[in-house]
This record gives sequence, C-alpha cells and structure tokens, in this order.
Amino acid sequence: MRIEADAGTCVGSGMCALTSPELFDQSDEDGTVVVLRAVPADVQLKDAEDAVRRCPSGALSLTD
Ligand code: SF4
Repeated sequence: MRIEADAGTCVGSGMCALTSPELFDQSDEDGTVVVLRAVPADVQLKDAEDAVRRCPSGALSLTD
C-alpha cells in the first residue's frame, strides 16, 4: 500500500497531519501536504485510510 498525495489539489487544511502525524506533515511555505512515509507500516494502515477519508479536498489516495 502506498500513499499518493496531490499537492495541487491539497487545500492545506492540515487534517491529515492531525490525523496521522507519523505519516503526514505540512509545508512550511504554503501548508500543503508533505508525505513523511509513503509506504505505511502495517500498524499505520488504518491511520492512512482515516486520513484519506477525512481529507476535505480528495488530495490523498492509497494505491496497491
Ligand atoms: S487533509 Fe487533504 S487538504 Fe488537508 S492538508 Fe492533508 S492532503 Fe491537504
């Protein structure tokens, strides 16, 4: 499972970094998403799925 993030779609809400701070951060420059760990560990999969679901702009997705 791999996290894909579209910075052009991201609106910088920060929900992903709040939901899963081990997986996501925000750019200091414009607040858009920074993926800290593109391939989450097994124990982080639920956090990754929660972050994708909660993202208000649809900028996040998971691929196999
Ligand atoms: S939750 Fe979505 S819109 Fe908000 S910072 Fe993360 S990727 Fe961007």
